[in-house]
Amino acid sequence: MSAKFLHIVFNRPLNRAFDYAAPENHSLCADIIGARVLVPFGNTNAIGLIMGYAKQSDVAPDKIRPAIDILDPSPLLEQDHLDFLRWAADYYHHPLGEVVFAALPRRLRKHHKMLSLNTPHCRLIQPSSEIAMQRNASRQQAIVQALAAAEHQTLPLKTLQDQFGPVTAVLKRLEAKKIVDIHDTPPSSSEMHWRESGHQLNAEQTAAIDAIKGKFNQFQVFLLDGVTGSGKTEVYMQLTKSVLSEGKNVLLLVPEIALTPQLAQGFRERLGDCITILHSGLSDAEREISWRRAKLGLSRLIIGTRSLIFSPVAKLGLVIVDEEHDPSFKQHDGLRYSARDLAVIRAQRAHCPILLGSATPSLETLHNAARNRYQHLRLTRRAGLAQPPAMRVLDINDQPLQSGMASALLQGIQQTLAKHQQVLIFINRRGYAPVLTCHHCHWVSACHQCDAHQTVHRAANQLRCHHCGAQRHIPMTCPECGSPELHPLGQGTERIEDFLQAQFPDTPLFRIDRDTVTHKNRLHELLQRIHQSDAAILVGTQMLAKGHHFPKVTLVGILNADAGLFSTDFRAAERMAQLLLQIAGRAGRDKHPGQVMIQSRYPDHPLLRNLVEQGYADFAQAALAERQEAGYPPFSYQILIRADAKKAEQAEAFLDIAATWIKQHHHGVIDCWGPVPAPMARRVGRYRSHLLMQAKQRTLLHEAMRRVHLYLQSTRAKKTVRWSIDVDPYDAY
Ligand code: ADP
Ligand code: ZN
Ligand code: ZN
Repeated sequence: MSAKFLHIVFNRPLNRAFDYAAPENHSLCADIIGARVLVPFGNTNAIGLIMGYAKQSDVAPDKIRPAIDILDPSPLLEQDHLDFLRWAADYYHHPLGEVVFAALPRRLRKHHKMLSLNTPHCRLIQPSSEIAMQRNASRQQAIVQALAAAEHQTLPLKTLQDQFGPVTAVLKRLEAKKIVDIHDTPPSSSEMHWRESGHQLNAEQTAAIDAIKGKFNQFQVFLLDGVTGSGKTEVYMQLTKSVLSEGKNVLLLVPEIALTPQLAQGFRERLGDCITILHSGLSDAEREISWRRAKLGLSRLIIGTRSLIFSPVAKLGLVIVDEEHDPSFKQHDGLRYSARDLAVIRAQRAHCPILLGSATPSLETLHNAARNRYQHLRLTRRAGLAQPPAMRVLDINDQPLQSGMASALLQGIQQTLAKHQQVLIFINRRGYAPVLTCHHCHWVSACHQCDAHQTVHRAANQLRCHHCGAQRHIPMTCPECGSPELHPLGQGTERIEDFLQAQFPDTPLFRIDRDTVTHKNRLHELLQRIHQSDAAILVGTQMLAKGHHFPKVTLVGILNADAGLFSTDFRAAERMAQLLLQIAGRAGRDKHPGQVMIQSRYPDHPLLRNLVEQGYADFAQAALAERQEAGYPPFSYQILIRADAKKAEQAEAFLDIAATWIKQHHHGVIDCWGPVPAPMARRVGRYRSHLLMQAKQRTLLHEAMRRVHLYLQSTRAKKTVRWSIDVDPYDAY
C-alpha cells in the first residue's frame, strides 16, 4: 500500500501536526516534504507545511479530510532544515508550526506563487547605425548606445531602468522594430571578487585566522575576543574569502544593520556583489528573492539580524555572530529565541565552525571558553595606530552639576572642541526629562496604564509613556492642585541637547535617538553630516554604541553609569559593563588618542573600579565568581513562565497551579520562585506575574517544563490569562 496521509503543521499556536489525506492524483514522494499545501481547516481553507507522510494514520478515517492542493513543486525547506526547526521548537517549548512558518519569507507564508528568480535582460540584435531614428527618439538612441557598449550587447532591464528611468514603453517600440529583444535569464551564482584592504594583518589577527582555518569543515565554536577597533571585521572578511573560495557559503549575524552601515558597506566593497544584506528596507518580494537565492546557494555571504538564523543556506561553511553579547539577538515576544545560541546549534548541525566576536563577550560565552568548550582567540590591541582610550571616573557627589554634567566634563568638551575634534555624550534616556513633578503637591506624571512615569518631550509638548505609547499634552498647571509650578526632573537627550547647544552655540550638535532617527535614511544623513563636520557634539542613547566608527570622536562622556550597579536583575552589571565599554570604544578610533569620562555617584563601587582599572576580562571574572556563588546562570539554567491578566490575582492563580505542580513533582531538582509580580507589574493596563524555574541540569529543567506545559494545557487556563514560556530568559520584564 502506498502512502496516503500527510502530516501538516500550521502557522498557528497549535502543539501538534494534523493528518490529511493526500490530494487526488498526487503521488507522494520525498519531494513534497517541506512543501506548502492548501487544506480545508475548520470552515475555511488554510496553508500548511508538509512535515511528512505515512501509509497509515492514527486518526479515525471519517475524521480525515483530503488536502486540496500541494502548492510547491519542490520543498521550500529541506529535511535537515526542518530538523533544525524542530529542535528549536522543542528547545523553546513553542508550537512547531509557528517556528516552521517563521522560517519562511512573509510572501510564502501565504497563498502566493513563488516569484521567478529569472531576471529580464535586454539585448541589441541590430547594429545601432541601421536604425532609422525619428524625431523624439533620443531615448531610444541612448538605450541602443548603452546596449552597444555592453558586454554581449546585453544589459539587465533593471540596469536600464536605473539609468534611464521607466523604459518599458521605449523598449516595446524598439522590440517592435526588431532592434532589441527581451528575454529572461536564469539566475547564476554570484561571482566573488576580492579586494585586499592594504593592511598588513597583525600577528594576533593572523593567529586567529589560522586557528579557525585549521577547523574548516568541522564543528568548533570560536570566541574572537577583541577590544573595540582591534580589527575583528578584517578577520571576518579574510575567513569569508577562504570559505567562499572553497565553494561554501557564509552566514553573518549582526545586531542591527541600520546602526552599522559601515560594516555592510565594508563587506560589499571588499567582496563585491556576491553578498546579500537583509536590511529592513527590503520589500516582501525582495526578501523572498534573497531568501531563495541563499537557499539555492546563489548568494555567497548573507548578512542579517537575528531572524536570519531561521533561513536556509546552502552549503554552509561558516557562521559568524558579530557582537555576540548584544541583547538584540534575543527575541522578546512570540518565539523567545536567542539567535546567538541557535547559531551554535546551526553550525553544529552543518559541521562547520562558528565565530562569536565581541569586545565584551557575554559571561555565558566566557564561561564556555573557560571550560574549553569554546576556543578563545584574543585580539588585545587596536589595529593600526589607534590607542586604547584612557578611562576616568568623575565623582559627582558634593559638586554642583549643570544639567546633570560635572564641570570637569564641560571643560573636557571645551578643550576637545578647541582641537577641532568631536565629543560624544551618552545618556540612556530619550526625551527631555524622565518625569514631570509638581513643586507644590508632589504630583508626578505617572502613566495611567503602566507602573511607569511618562517622559517629558518638550519639543513635541507631550508627556509620553515609553512602555505603552500613551501620550498627552504637557499640562500648564498641576492636574492635582492646580499649581503652575511644574518641573521636569532629571535629564534626557533632549535636555542635554538644549543645554549643550546653549553652551556651545557655534558648534554643530547632533542628537541621535529614536525620536530623531525615525527612519534609516535619516540616520544615514546624520552620520554623513557627522563625518563631514569638524568639531561637533554628538548626544545620544545606546543607538550610538553599536559598532559605529566615528574617527573624529576623541572624548566620550557617560552621564550616568550607576543604573546597573544596584539592580535586582543579576545580569544588570554585565549589561552595564558591556554598554560602557562599547560606548567608550567609540573614542579615539583613529590617530588621535581618546579619553572617556564616566560620571558616577558610586565611584568606589568595586564592579565599576574593577572595570575601569583592570578592564573587562577582570570584571567578567569577578562577575562570574559572583554568579557561581549565587548559583545563577551560566552555573544553572532557567526558564521563566510569564502570565498577565486584567486582574493581578488571575495571573497569580494561574502561575500558582504551575508552581504547586512543580513543587509536587520535581521537588529538590527544580528550584521554583514565585509567582511574583514582574518588575513592572502593570503594563498597558494588564497585571503581570512570573514564575522562575531554575535547575543545575538543563535536561532535567526541560523535562520538567515539558510536563508542566502539558499539565497547564490540560487545565485549560481561562481565556482571561495570557501566558508564555521564556527559555534562558535575558531579563524579567
Ligand atoms: P573591530 O571590529 O574589532 O572594532 P575594525 O575591524 O572595525 O575593529 O577595525 C578598526 C580599524 O582598524 C578599521 O579602520 C580597520 O580598517 C583597521 N584595521 C584592521 N586591521 C588592520 C591592520 N592589520 N592594520 C591596520 N589597520 C587595520
Ligand atoms: Zn500639584
Ligand atoms: Zn504606559
